[in-house]
Amino acid sequence: MSSSLFADASVRLERALKYVSISDTAQEKLKQPKSSLSVSIPVKMDNGSTRVFQGHRVIYDDTRGPGKGGVRYHPSVTLDEVQSLAFWMMFKCALLNLPFGGAKGGVCVNPKELSNTELERLSRGYISAIADFIGINKDIPAPDVYTNETVMGWMVDEYSKIKREICLGVVTGKPIIMGGSQGRDTATATGAFHVINTILSKFEQKPSETTIAIQGFGNAGAEIAQLLFNAGYSVVAVSDSQGGIYSEQGLDIPSVREYKNNHKAIKGVYCKKSVCNIVDHQVISNEDLLTLDVDVLIPAALEKQITEENADHVKAKFIFEVANGPITSSADLILEDKQIYVVPDILVNAGGVTVSYLEWVQNRSGFYWTLEDVEKHLEHSMKTATEETWQVAQKYQVSMRTGAYIHSLNRLNQAMNFGN
Ligand code: NAD
Repeated sequence: MSSSLFADASVRLERALKYVSISDTAQEKLKQPKSSLSVSIPVKMDNGSTRVFQGHRVIYDDTRGPGKGGVRYHPSVTLDEVQSLAFWMMFKCALLNLPFGGAKGGVCVNPKELSNTELERLSRGYISAIADFIGINKDIPAPDVYTNETVMGWMVDEYSKIKREICLGVVTGKPIIMGGSQGRDTATATGAFHVINTILSKFEQKPSETTIAIQGFGNAGAEIAQLLFNAGYSVVAVSDSQGGIYSEQGLDIPSVREYKNNHKAIKGVYCKKSVCNIVDHQVISNEDLLTLDVDVLIPAALEKQITEENADHVKAKFIFEVANGPITSSADLILEDKQIYVVPDILVNAGGVTVSYLEWVQNRSGFYWTLEDVEKHLEHSMKTATEETWQVAQKYQVSMRTGAYIHSLNRLNQAMNFGN
């Protein structure tokens, strides 16, 4: 297998192309990104020195609308990774029928090593470097791993200064006070929750009889853990970059979240009334978490977590990919052989971009929706896309992943055949 993430991502396209006939024009356009920009960002550090960070922004395709995709701050960011994430965004937006193409950005940095002011200078520097590449009708960044609404607030402010006008719709995932949408912060997890419920109910898998392990306890992972806990599922294991915890009886997720927020680490705490005890829990590694004997496994951290090395040890019956690209294409085949039901990233985590779309619409119209309206629209979009993907997968007798790609490809193909 090639070590390139993009080469691996392209395998999914090749698999879907066996079932769908698309024009030569569309096939050619899908092979490479429309445009890529790599930039150097000099940042004045608090101690007076200057460090230069490498950043990227890729618009994979904008046939169906402006580029759309998050910005990641992580030490392992490369152009190959950003391009792959932009490629997935293109399919995700098509699957949800959002009027966007696919894009993504990233900066190679460990944000945990930067002070708040250094992080702000880096975020403003990144936007300044890519300002001509993005725009309300061109390409719209949003949060991803280790970026959040504060970072988006700095970015929209910087862009508006550069353009000498208020441009709220150029970035989504902003603080509400800066034109953000109700429900955007929890949208990825809420969207995933609708997909999980819809699929599990098709298999008559009841919440009270379902054990769940979640890798990653950030924006997406901690929120989905909370929603599943509230709905009566038994979340028995969670992990973050430092390791994980497991309790056969299920973890008290509100307490784990509180502990994580206060101590920046996770611990198995159990709260009854006002008394918090340390619940009997096992400390486990991330590798252990992936191979636990649970009903549902939710990777919600980074790419390439389930590979051909460990796929054979996975015991879960269902995997819902909240992270982008957590399973490699060769691991897909092993999981399929083991009859593990995998629901793909481009469907499961599409709630984030769906509410980003609503934020963009609100910014453009100047009319702001209630949380209730946003959540109603999100639920409808996620359930519709899940049902459509399920139907395509049934029709072609393929996995949910290939079904999702077939459905997206049909939409992309139709759009790409215009304007040539
Ligand atoms: P985040 O930065 O808020 O959280 C990432 C979490 O992963 C942290 O808890 C971190 O400790 C953990 N982590 C990092 N390395 C790990 C490792 N090796 N093992 C276990 N845990 C590890 O990021 P996020 O926004 O929650 O994004 C997580 C995933 O979800 C990414 O793949 C991202 O692309 C995807 N996603 C996020 C959104 C969104 O709106 N936030 C939308 C769509 C997809």
